[in-house]
Amino acid sequence: MKRTAPLATRDDRFFWDGVAVGELRLQRCANCGKRRHPPGPMCPWCHSLQWRVERAAGRGVVYSYVIPRHTAIESQGEPVIVALIELEEGVRLVSNLCGVAPGAVRNGMAVEVFFTEFEDGVRLHQFRPAGR
Ligand code: ZN
Repeated sequence: MKRTAPLATRDDRFFWDGVAVGELRLQRCANCGKRRHPPGPMCPWCHSLQWRVERAAGRGVVYSYVIPRHTAIESQGEPVIVALIELEEGVRLVSNLCGVAPGAVRNGMAVEVFFTEFEDGVRLHQFRPAGR
């Protein structure tokens, strides 16, 4: 089954450019200094339009997760785990969680980013349990 490639916009192109080279990048307000995700043109706290890009460490914890029962994409017969990851930098992002059985996922478990290029050329950030 074909994966839908991310459609980069002017606001989040830096993020997908980072994924392409194996970096998890975050947006940070140049005025108040707060990080934010998903990317957007304006700081939701101070309304500044000035921002810069930082590289995230790629470590965090599972904040929450779901296991969709009717997924468009199957991962080699295994259920896809869709997790909301809270990064060390304080922002949350949605990603796939791999390398763990669905019944073993727990909120608060330590995870780390990795990058996968799928057979159709789509490259995505994903997370797995930390330290493996
Ligand atoms: Zn701000």
